Amino acid sequence: MMKNIGVIIELDKGRVKETNFGMITLARAKDTQLFAFVMDADAKSVKEVLESFGITKIVEVWLAPDQLNNPVTRAKAMINAIKEFNISMVFGLSTAMGKDLLPRIAAHLFAPLVMDCFYVDLEQKIAKTYQYSGKTIATIQLTGEVLVFGIRPNAIEPVKAQEKAQMLKFDSSHIVATGFRVIKSGGIDKTTRINLAEADVIIAGGRGMKNSENFNILFQCAKKINAAVGASRVAVDAGWVPYSMQVGQTGEKVSPKVYIACGISGSIQHFAGMKTSGMIIAINTDENAAILSNCDYYVKADALEIIPTLTKILDNG
Ligand SMILES: Cc1cc2nc3c(=O)[nH]c(=O)nc-3n(C[C@H](O)[C@H](O)[C@H](O)COP(=O)(O)OP(=O)(O)OC[C@H]3O[C@@H](n4cnc5c(N)ncnc54)[C@H](O)[C@@H]3O)c2cc1C
Repeated sequence: MMKNIGVIIELDKGRVKETNFGMITLARAKDTQLFAFVMDADAKSVKEVLESFGITKIVEVWLAPDQLNNPVTRAKAMINAIKEFNISMVFGLSTAMGKDLLPRIAAHLFAPLVMDCFYVDLEQKIAKTYQYSGKTIATIQLTGEVLVFGIRPNAIEPVKAQEKAQMLKFDSSHIVATGFRVIKSGGIDKTTRINLAEADVIIAGGRGMKNSENFNILFQCAKKINAAVGASRVAVDAGWVPYSMQVGQTGEKVSPKVYIACGISGSIQHFAGMKTSGMIIAINTDENAAILSNCDYYVKADALEIIPTLTKILDNG
């Protein structure tokens, strides 16, 4: 019998987030039906783009409007959909949403779950993920009727594969979460304009930025290079920037193409969150800083001087 694999699609203002495409590429296999589950939009609007990456069935999961932001309702709807469509492998992103949703799904289905995967072998049912703050790579084989994988954003290169998809609807508007009601949702700090986990370029600041005002230097530069702004824990603990910007073991795990570390020493805890970056550029006044042994380019400079200069050059260019 043909296997059914499901991917849970994340949207941003009605558009499929780029980082889904790598996940879909990973979930594609011969002799399988590839289902995309869409909860937050009219699925017709995303049909074309999902087809271009090999999706063969698009399921629009209907939720009651007052339940849209409720993770319990979302999980229940997805659990029902997984059963209804006989999904044997479920893929979601290891983003804030995925970290909330996927464990709920796995727990309810008694399904094994591996989060933050950067590799999955569908035949062998093997996933690779980082453990112990990125010090080791774990190769994990899963067994069970349903397997759940959380995929690290940006970790997989997307490859197109044109298909024609069938549109389906799955009415879950009757589901109302009990014991869990979201009173209000929103209030995200505007500073995190580009989602850190999904950014191609990140410019991050540490203790070397010295205060909250100096982070504006990074925001101004970020605008020019289309980057997200991140931070070390020291900068967050000092109250200079919100926790949502923290990169590292206890913050966001990121895999941008380019990571520019400004005034960050390169502790193992910080490195645990950004070691999979394509290219690391360190701007640091201290040529003995630990980050030097882990970066591709080192710029010996005062970040408070060189970043405004760079922004000015980009302004004039
Ligand atoms: C359990 C645990 C979890 C942790 N989780 C995290 C985490 O998720 N993320 C995280 O970041 N940390 C985390 N930490 C903290 C971590 O150990 C470090 O303390 C922290 O990463 C250091 O931040 P920093 O590099 O900004 O500061 P520092 O280590 O103080 O480094 C500042 C750097 O800035 C340079 N500098 C100073 N002035 C300038 C200037 N003007 N221009 C250029 N360079 C300059 C200095 O030479 C120095 O290298 C964790 C720690 C523990 C124990």
